[in-house]
Amino acid sequence: MERLLTGLADFSIKKVISVRPAQLEVVYQKETQCPECASQKKGIKASFWRKIKSIPQQGYSVTLQVHCHKYHCKQCGRYFNTRLNGVKKWIRSTKPLKHSVFNSCRRGYSNKDAAFESGLSVATVERFYHQMILQKISHQQNQQCPKFIGIDEHCLKGRRNVKVSVWICMGPTVKW
Ligand SMILES: [Zn+2]
Repeated sequence: MERLLTGLADFSIKKVISVRPAQLEVVYQKETQCPECASQKKGIKASFWRKIKSIPQQGYSVTLQVHCHKYHCKQCGRYFNTRLNGVKKWIRSTKPLKHSVFNSCRRGYSNKDAAFESGLSVATVERFYHQMILQKISHQQNQQCPKFIGIDEHCLKGRRNVKVSVWICMGPTVKW
């Protein structure tokens, strides 16, 4: 249930601040280890709140408020902040929200409607859409095309012999 509301796996809801639009105070369940030496031994130097937009519920935006800390590693001396699974550093929205906005735009939502529903600005929605398009293009470019793509069988009317076409990948073009 909490995962449905927050859109993320490692958070639990501590307090419902408002319902429409939803503002939830959430607690991050996982410990952040030092990114330098992976030590768990750390001291809290400062604390702050992060406000993060998550996937909308029933047409209303959802904002998560998470109490985060600035840590000091007792082993190597590095300073670092709480790292949240599903939320990038310095970004004020979750990864599932980015996917949700992209899918809304693909289904025909205007940028303005997608922005209203998610609680983001129109400019952010547009930026997310372009980032997702670039991500998908780069993902497709990394995919290897198989040598043999498919086999077709043709049988001309009135003839018994069957012609077989083998489709072979030739880089950007397909030949048989
Ligand atoms: Zn360390």
